[in-house]
Amino acid sequence: MKLFLHEISELGTEIQFSDKDKWAMDCVCSVDERFEGQPVLSSRPLLGQLTLRRVDGVVVVQGNMNTEVQLICSRCAAPYRMKCAPTISALYCRDPQMAGIAHIETDKQGRATGKVAGKLSGHARHAHDFAGDGQTNQDLDITYLAEDEIDLSTVLLEHLQLQIPFQPLCNEACKGICANCGADQNRGRCACSKIQPTSPFSALKNLRIGASKN
Ligand SMILES: [Zn+2]
Ligand SMILES: [Zn+2]
Repeated sequence: MKLFLHEISELGTEIQFSDKDKWAMDCVCSVDERFEGQPVLSSRPLLGQLTLRRVDGVVVVQGNMNTEVQLICSRCAAPYRMKCAPTISALYCRDPQMAGIAHIETDKQGRATGKVAGKLSGHARHAHDFAGDGQTNQDLDITYLAEDEIDLSTVLLEHLQLQIPFQPLCNEACKGICANCGADQNRGRCACSKIQPTSPFSALKNLRIGASKN
């Protein structure tokens, strides 16, 4: 779903979305990992909200969402559901010079002042006044927008992808599959564990290195 920047109010434009909204659902489904030909989750919870506010030249996007995605366990290769509830926080602007690294300034007590400051020159004049959400001095990228519109699917997608673990696990204690026969070891032991492991080097155990002393 796209919003024109000029439609975003300085007071804040609020967008609610749920599993009834195709654009949001498509976005969550696109994060799913799947086997070739296997269907994704037939249903899942999805509820979220975004507030977009225009402050000077910057669009401040804040919100949250609650949903589930399907991942493939990196040990046993079984698909499983993972709860995914990212806090959404992002800054966008049309000014390429302003785009870069910025952070929300804090006062002497460590409270968010609601001002955006950054390493680049010119940020002081872009001091902003939006409600602190308890995130103090958090570095945020200001993403450059080439068009006069913001794609909310991209905003959601970027935040969802950050939640996906590098090595997804269906369960911390997942035993994985047997390297020998491929059986899922969470379902019980395969026969392989009863067979003595044979290695191509096992014969070496009986071999004496001929360092004779005569
Ligand atoms: Zn697993
Ligand atoms: Zn086995």
